[in-house]
Amino acid sequence: MTEAFSTVAVIGAGTMGRGIAQLAAQRGLEARLFDVSAAQVEQAGREVSSQLDRLVAKGKLSAADRSATAARLLPTSELSTACQGADVVIEAAPESMDLKVKLFGEIRELSPAHALLGSNTSSLSITEIGQRAGVPDRLVGLHFFNPPPVMPLLEIVRGLSTSEQSVDRARALAAVLAKESIVVRDFPGFATSRLGVILGAEAMRMLEAGVASAADIDRAMKLGYRHPMGPLELTDLVGLDVRLAILEHLHKELGEQFRPPAILRQMVRAGRLGKKVGLGFYRWTDEGPHPAE
Ligand code: NAD
Repeated sequence: MTEAFSTVAVIGAGTMGRGIAQLAAQRGLEARLFDVSAAQVEQAGREVSSQLDRLVAKGKLSAADRSATAARLLPTSELSTACQGADVVIEAAPESMDLKVKLFGEIRELSPAHALLGSNTSSLSITEIGQRAGVPDRLVGLHFFNPPPVMPLLEIVRGLSTSEQSVDRARALAAVLAKESIVVRDFPGFATSRLGVILGAEAMRMLEAGVASAADIDRAMKLGYRHPMGPLELTDLVGLDVRLAILEHLHKELGEQFRPPAILRQMVRAGRLGKKVGLGFYRWTDEGPHPAE
């Protein structure tokens, strides 16, 4: 059986992994959610629960569907438990080539031969991860957006050695998850991150130059260009450490325009990683972003 998806393993339970697991469970799949950090596994379970509660409170999910969805989500601290019998394994671990190569080497050993393997990388080469991990034909980029249950796009990345069958299955998975998909060639930053991060980086350089406050730069793009969210608020949502890793990679691959701004490095050094820690370009509360100073 190669076409159907009933079980997904999500590897990494941070910002993206927990959202991908929630999405899969809501769409009727059994979703195992693994992280090396037991604390992250626990926190992810709690956060998905409260997200589901919010959907019920808003009338977007019935109480019965809520408990069925929660029952399909299985947080685990064992990679083997997550991968066993999975039809698709989606990796959402930190943006590091060596880490992803090592993980897919282990996933290859622990998951069924028919499992589709996907990486949620924002910028790294699918061709290189696949080749070095010994899964060149089975690996695709499955690039979800934040928050995964809400954002409509799934960007599918075809590595140089990715098989046509893997790409077809990735498209089928997108349909199961009710996402619109595009298929792009494996090129640094794909079709999304390349444009997304340059806007964020330029906004940071404008902030450094004192052109306007963070809130006004964001307001300018929202009101003047109809962006749903300004580039600095979006950087907070993504995570400043995640954005820095992407920029460092694209700087190496594509050149000077992707050089990470000094303010970004400083803020990451200071632990101001954005929404996930409550402080970035904004201070975050349950009500949303507020001016940081
Ligand atoms: P994150 O830092 O929030 O979460 C990463 C998680 O991976 C952490 O919980 C960490 O404990 C865990 N981890 C570390 N080593 C691991 C290992 N060996 N095995 C399993 N888990 C491990 O990061 P994130 O924002 O969720 O990003 C994850 C990936 O998704 C990155 O490749 C990133 O570029 C990509 N991405 C992020 C966004 C975004 O908006 N944050 C959007 C699209 C894609």
